[in-house]
Amino acid sequence: MLDPSNDLVAFDRDHFFHPSTHMGMHARGETPTRVIAGARGCTVVDREGRESLDAFAGLYCVNVGYGRPEIAEAIAEQARRLPYYHAYVGHGSEPAIRLAKMIVDRAPAGMSRVYFGLSGSDANETNIKLVWYANNILGRPEKKKIISRWRGYHGSGVMTGSLTGLKLFHDAFDLPRAPILHTEAPYYFRRADRTMGEEQFSQFCADRLEETILAEGPETVAAMIGEPVLGTGGIVPPPAGYWERIQAVLARYDVMLIADEVVTGFGRLGTMFGSDHYGMRPDLVTIAKGLTSAYAPLSGTIVSERLWNVLVQGSDTLGPIGHGWTYSAHPLCAAAGVANLALIDELDLLANVRTVGAHLRAGLAAALGDHPHVGEVRGEGLLAAVEFVADRDDRRFFEPAAKVGPRISAALLARGVIARAMPEGDILGFAPPFCLTREEADTIVEKTAEAVAAVTAEL
Ligand code: PLP
Repeated sequence: MLDPSNDLVAFDRDHFFHPSTHMGMHARGETPTRVIAGARGCTVVDREGRESLDAFAGLYCVNVGYGRPEIAEAIAEQARRLPYYHAYVGHGSEPAIRLAKMIVDRAPAGMSRVYFGLSGSDANETNIKLVWYANNILGRPEKKKIISRWRGYHGSGVMTGSLTGLKLFHDAFDLPRAPILHTEAPYYFRRADRTMGEEQFSQFCADRLEETILAEGPETVAAMIGEPVLGTGGIVPPPAGYWERIQAVLARYDVMLIADEVVTGFGRLGTMFGSDHYGMRPDLVTIAKGLTSAYAPLSGTIVSERLWNVLVQGSDTLGPIGHGWTYSAHPLCAAAGVANLALIDELDLLANVRTVGAHLRAGLAAALGDHPHVGEVRGEGLLAAVEFVADRDDRRFFEPAAKVGPRISAALLARGVIARAMPEGDILGFAPPFCLTREEADTIVEKTAEAVAAVTAEL
């Protein structure tokens, strides 16, 4: 047995390669190791017994909150009965089949089948392969390019890291790889000319998309991928009329739409799917995080009926589809998914997302909206962001080296609240569990205002 008080930090420095971490600083002991030991509701506790209100639900994934016995029991019961069987060649387990049905019942109109993976990244890899496969079956092998947006986040594999539109995920990895292209981010606050209204900026984005498609040749462009609300790129809801205009362009050139709902799927915006929230009509939908509330790793690709029919035509011609992973539709993860989706309904958590989400966003806007270093407070449902600026009148941003966002997030953690400094820009992101209470929302607002006051006083 490890002696956590003595050995754990040393073992961590010496042997644990953490994701998204400054490797040198961590190995040298210049950044802290925080061992989270337990959690309940919206609160996590570390091994020293320090509690933090988790206003980011892990990585916007523990949607139903921590410590739900219903999900823990479902996983344990499944482990006792059948820990594993594969899903190849028509095999399945009861929870995986039930979960596929539950997902399609909740999915946007026109959806038909679910392919299960383990992470948002691998689900997006599946999406790209399915788009390519379908276009080969349809006799248009040159139609393969995928358009993503700058600041989009779609994972960190080779293809999905290429889809991601953030520099940090490209530099020194030789990404993006062809045939991935990036288009304008629907980021009104940063990107719109000050004379533009939101609708005008949406048209501007649609025009940039159309230009790219025409410059590349519509016969070469297969699909566009987008999150209904930009997530890791800054928590940015789309400007008014954005998806409507984008979809008009895609329809004109027969380009498929992949809605990446890894963050927005299963209720984060107060509706079951972001696609329904914004009137998107995707061919493929990516799901992960909220599918199991991260009690077990599970993702999925929801395939529309229209695309499914093409895939069926493919295997009628080519034989069984050459795509699959050992852990696709893992029974323990599927059992977690079934219990999680049932709990979301039973507790009517989407109603709480709508009311407490609106309360949190209104609180942040009231406390910080007029602050001289706050450029924008924005969000939708239980997603919110506060963006910091050096000067709000001429929308001047801080130098990244000043690390204003990370400093505010650290000051907030010191006050007992976890929010995320988003990777590009000085943006503090909030995505708490759906069971957040109004009192907890008030604490988030109060502590955030204190942290902002403390850090901006030093600037
Ligand atoms: N897509 C979106 C919208 C995400 O936010 C994420 C992760 O944050 C991913 C895909 C990748 O998911 P994963 O980290 O499970 O691979």
